[in-house]
Amino acid sequence: MKVLIVNAGSSSLKYQLIDMDNEQTLAKGLVERIGMGGVGHAEMKVDGKTVFDVEEPIGDHVKGCQLMIRALTDKENGVVKDMSEIGAVGHRVLHGGNKFSESVVINQAVMDAIEEFIPLGPLHNPANLMGIKACREVMPDTPMVAVFDTAFHQTMPPKAYMYGVPYDYYERLHVRRYGFHGTSHRYVSKRTAEFLKRDPKGLRIIIAHLGNGSSLSAVKDGKCVDTSMGITPLEGVIMGTRSGVMDPAVVQYICDNDHISVDEMLNICNKKSGLLGISGLSNDMRDVDKAAREGHERAKLARDMLVYGIKKYIGSYAAAMGGVDAIVFTAGIGENNIELRRDVMADMEFLGAKIDEEKNASVKPGRATETDISAADSKVKVLVIPTNEEIAIARDTLELVSKL
Ligand code: ADP
Repeated sequence: MKVLIVNAGSSSLKYQLIDMDNEQTLAKGLVERIGMGGVGHAEMKVDGKTVFDVEEPIGDHVKGCQLMIRALTDKENGVVKDMSEIGAVGHRVLHGGNKFSESVVINQAVMDAIEEFIPLGPLHNPANLMGIKACREVMPDTPMVAVFDTAFHQTMPPKAYMYGVPYDYYERLHVRRYGFHGTSHRYVSKRTAEFLKRDPKGLRIIIAHLGNGSSLSAVKDGKCVDTSMGITPLEGVIMGTRSGVMDPAVVQYICDNDHISVDEMLNICNKKSGLLGISGLSNDMRDVDKAAREGHERAKLARDMLVYGIKKYIGSYAAAMGGVDAIVFTAGIGENNIELRRDVMADMEFLGAKIDEEKNASVKPGRATETDISAADSKVKVLVIPTNEEIAIARDTLELVSKL
């Protein structure tokens, strides 16, 4: 079966068509500048080569979906004859609140729930919902599945997900830690057990998903027991543009002094902080690294803060699980940044974890494969496991629609 994966943003649609008979990606595409006035842009790549490139006004997500279909079914360069060849659509959805601990086939009740959780995911959930509605309009007979970024973390115990504010806020407003990147943490933790040829039962894994957005998770017996992101993706280590965890009084202090609103301050915390805010240069780790190597003090500081933050989470999750069997690096930075992995794992012998510098350096940027980078005498396995959220979404989608 061919499965279409859709990730809808407020002004964009990213998609991938996967042939589930061999899990090969047939095409990858992007529709951008949707509903922004002026011309929008749609492109599609097959085997890394651009085969569709169109600029025209794209008023809404329905128009965006129509362009996606036009690209996929294009007579000359398309990858399917018509849309009936596509057996199902898997939608990436940010926030499933406390309702979804697994992926689900989309029906009206599921769409209502995604809408209900808009206050928890104010930027993403409305966009995800628009994407779902638009796809249903242009592909009314194709079954669709929602795969939630929060679902994998629903197994956390209350002591890990509760915040120390009055309980009433949890009951009335659902204030708690939800966690994100769940599809990646689930995929990587499962691959880790397979790679180590171990039953997930009895395994204690710490996953460092380090990208532009970063989160760590503690996975015990195949289940998430803690994660670093919170009620929103702002909590945790410093990220490309997010501040990560800090005393919330910082928000009030800056708002009062600079006469800005909480909304403005949270926008700063989400979009202007982290690597970008500290270095003053870039949110991209490659730029920060390069500047740090050239002696740029604030770039060095940003890098040090990230390394230190990751170390602290690893230490705390090892303590939380009563030890750790595997520490796993994944996502853009985790898979590609040799020096960052080396620095995070420095002086971790006390935990029984030590990397082999040569093995670590053998995982080449841009070409990471599943690799054991631990030293021969390391009690804890240290691994690089490239994430693949699209495959995870496609597998869930196939599994659920096969049962229909
Ligand atoms: P997102 O959270 O947007 O999915 P990614 O997982 O793509 O982010 O990670 C983006 C980060 O990964 C950037 O900071 C970038 O510097 C780093 N990165 C991505 N590819 C490479 C590479 N080939 N070499 C070094 N760093 C990389």
